[in-house]
Amino acid sequence: QETIDQIAAGEVVERPASVVKELVENAIDANASAVTVEIKDGGTSLIRITDNGWGIEKNQIQKAFLRHSTSKIRCIDDLLKVSSLGFRGEALSSISSVSRVELVTKTMSDLTGNRYVIEGSKEISLEEIGAPDGTTFLVRDIFYNVPARKKFLKSNQTEAAYIADIVEKLALSHPDISFKYIQQNQTKLHTSGNGNLRDVIYHVYGREISANLIKVSGSCEFFEVTGYIGMPTVSRGNRNYENYYINGRYIKSKVIAKAIEESYKNYMMQHQYPFTMLYFTFPDGALDVNVHPQKMEVRFDHQQEIYQKIVSILTDAIHGQEL
Ligand code: ADP
Ligand code: MG
Repeated sequence: QETIDQIAAGEVVERPASVVKELVENAIDANASAVTVEIKDGGTSLIRITDNGWGIEKNQIQKAFLRHSTSKIRCIDDLLKVSSLGFRGEALSSISSVSRVELVTKTMSDLTGNRYVIEGSKEISLEEIGAPDGTTFLVRDIFYNVPARKKFLKSNQTEAAYIADIVEKLALSHPDISFKYIQQNQTKLHTSGNGNLRDVIYHVYGREISANLIKVSGSCEFFEVTGYIGMPTVSRGNRNYENYYINGRYIKSKVIAKAIEESYKNYMMQHQYPFTMLYFTFPDGALDVNVHPQKMEVRFDHQQEIYQKIVSILTDAIHGQEL
């Protein structure tokens, strides 16, 4: 079982940032309103994720670490339909197969909490312990038992940058959750969770960008979209600042990227890459999903029409502004 889990882990756990992504998504699925991510040494020696969500009942703890025991979908096309972020039911089993995991969790209805320790898929202990409502995961010594994988990690600094990036993207897609990110005892990001997207953009991207945003809000027969596009003064030389989410997931799409740039070009008369933070909602079944567990690309059925609609909604937003 350990070997199978380690192979599966290769899909799910590429680096410390993948652990952070999976555990924070679990916290979001557990309805947490506050999530703290703390790391040491680029996440290689320690990752601690604390949430104030539902918690896990004692008799569900061991089950949660079994592969696929929680899978919510049968086929990959269901992916963007499920309302929770978790769907494969293999994150915890994968993570615990390549690291030392300590879990402290308590549900609101339980009187005491529980502490569970599992290292390299091997259960060490399960005991009752006093704890606040919610869940804390400690993940130590990632890849300690898979040296070949450990060798492929980059410097601690680079791994920490990947983690910061993941936490920022999750914070930006959930303005109603307070995120705190602590790296080597230093708080790098702390969002309020007050639901105001512009505040989160300010915390992540700074004053210049957050003060130069055009509001976007539109819909058509294919999708709804809300969010912001940056004014030309804060455009960039590459696509790094083009952010867009579909049904709550951060994704990549050439169609959306080109539409964003086209609408900008209409206004600027030259090719530029604007800052964007756009949130698309597509109805179930409208998307053809092409998935890799880590990076995600989406294809659309009505590609050309969707492209035109995005261009026209963004163009209207830009023209509606006094620039
Ligand atoms: P998935 O998220 O795909 O269901 P995971 O392996 O990520 O699979 O998690 C397994 C299960 O453990 C979840 O379905 C959930 O029931 C439980 N779980 C994990 N993390 C948390 C958390 N932070 N709070 C509450 N429950 C959790
Ligand atoms: Mg999950």
